Amino acid sequence: MCQHWGMAAGPTTLAGSGRLSRRVAAVEPSATLAIDARAKALRASGADVVAFGAGEPDFATPAAIVEAAVAACRDPRNHRYTPTAGLPELREAIAEKTRRDSGLEIAPSQVLVTNGGKHAVENAFATLLDPGDEVLVPAPYWTTYPESIRLAGGVAVPVPTDESTCFQVLPEQLEQLAGKRTKALLFVSPSNPTGAVYGRSAMEGIGRLAAERGWWVVADEIYEHLVYGTDEQHSMPVVVPELRDRCIVVNGVAKTYAMTGWRVGWMIAPPDVTEAAANLQSHTTSNVNNVAQRAALAAVSGDLSAVAEMRAVFDRRRRAIHAMLSKIPGVTCFEPQGAFYAFPNLTGVLERSYEGRRPATTLELAEVVLELAKVAFVPGEAFGAPGYARFSYALSDGDLEKGIRRLAELVQASTD
Ligand code: PMP
Repeated sequence: MCQHWGMAAGPTTLAGSGRLSRRVAAVEPSATLAIDARAKALRASGADVVAFGAGEPDFATPAAIVEAAVAACRDPRNHRYTPTAGLPELREAIAEKTRRDSGLEIAPSQVLVTNGGKHAVENAFATLLDPGDEVLVPAPYWTTYPESIRLAGGVAVPVPTDESTCFQVLPEQLEQLAGKRTKALLFVSPSNPTGAVYGRSAMEGIGRLAAERGWWVVADEIYEHLVYGTDEQHSMPVVVPELRDRCIVVNGVAKTYAMTGWRVGWMIAPPDVTEAAANLQSHTTSNVNNVAQRAALAAVSGDLSAVAEMRAVFDRRRRAIHAMLSKIPGVTCFEPQGAFYAFPNLTGVLERSYEGRRPATTLELAEVVLELAKVAFVPGEAFGAPGYARFSYALSDGDLEKGIRRLAELVQASTD
């Protein structure tokens, strides 16, 4: 009989059996992808689903970038490996772009080009952490942070925040939760999932504390160009220059240039750290796809007009979704200042009867809403924040309006 290696039970049942490493068996499946898969399956069966789950711009990559990639494909020089750390021209252009956008002076040799920002996060923690080292992670957090900290042998220490501080951590909270093993602080602004953006002085307070304590800071700037209203983007190693020798900046082209599928990101670090991370990468993924690096080169050396247009559209949707969510009885919503997510508090609409079903958690509510209203959102549990939910507003104005209206009608029809 033909034996299929895929016949055995899934990873959950395998966790204790010794078939899988404990390290990998402990990785949580991505709730964002799970809800997305459910929404897609429903859609495939003919349902008209409005999906607020996706974490990617709904725009096409600007044509000039695509054309640069087409030309690169035709040039046999790009059919080869590049140096592990990336094309020299791209590293140089990233150093130049960093000077232009953040005011941070760096040498191209400090840049490591990675397979997306996610890979930069993974490289950063793998390069910094020894087993048992702790990383302070403001919650609600992007799920990848704790997973890649754990995979690197570290321990993620969540630092809870809520609307009362606009989802920003305070230095005194960090002091309280820090210990002897604290090696690093994860800092992200604008934030996924909350849309929080730190002002300069709040950032300074946190950065100074990290510098005093000798913590590393991993500063995720992937949403740097998606900041709205009167808020401004600041870069941690510029605001607190003492941190420059202990800071890794994570960035990429995905959100700024609508290039999520191209998989190009980078980390910027002190030279010894970049060299060590490149050494690691030489044994894991080698270089990033050569053609995609050429596309990224066109992106970062071009102007910022495309992202300015996207930002204007996101800003309109941001205000629309915030206003609509805030009008639903029982729902309160922090007004997001950056990225493209709204993060309402839904505790006031739990424990009600929705056509006979009574969700007690946002995880259950997400299922009920998907089934009854055909609206998909990511429950806060995915981000270490039960009671909340993430709604991406990277979808058309019409869908946005339709989806939130359906949610509002469902809540209005619910009973005590
Ligand atoms: N950081 C944050 C906060 C993100 O939300 C994402 C994408 N969801 C990334 C990094 C990584 O993006 P990518 O790997 O697509 O470049």
